[in-house]
Amino acid sequence: MASSDTIFGRILRGEIPCDQVHADDRCLAFRDVAPQAPVHILIIPREPLENLLDAEPGHAELLGHLLLVAARVARQEGLEGFRTVINSGAEAGQTVFHLHVHVIGGRPLAWPPG
Ligand code: IMP
Repeated sequence: MASSDTIFGRILRGEIPCDQVHADDRCLAFRDVAPQAPVHILIIPREPLENLLDAEPGHAELLGHLLLVAARVARQEGLEGFRTVINSGAEAGQTVFHLHVHVIGGRPLAWPPG
């Protein structure tokens, strides 16, 4: 499935709503519909990459931007610490095949993750 056909592609096209916390010309950030912590935000590029395995050197600036937005929304949410997660591939737990950065926080987080 092309990543533009995922539920995140539909959110980007405004076909289904999201609880948006940040938007700019390269990405959109919104609250996860099934939060795993008090704060659980997803940041997705407007460009339809499936996951990090799809990324090329030309995406370096975009990937850096997504991480800077992660810190920005974490600050916006008042978090003093947070976790970023990018699941790449079904084996890693990826369920939506449009690259996304999870920003998770607001409670103590255990390590290692499952
Ligand atoms: P993944 O398992 O890393 O692919 O994460 C996909 C995430 O998308 C999960 O945490 C889901 O709860 C979340 N999700 C799926 N559909 C929606 C939606 O329509 N709005 C917001 N979050 C969603």
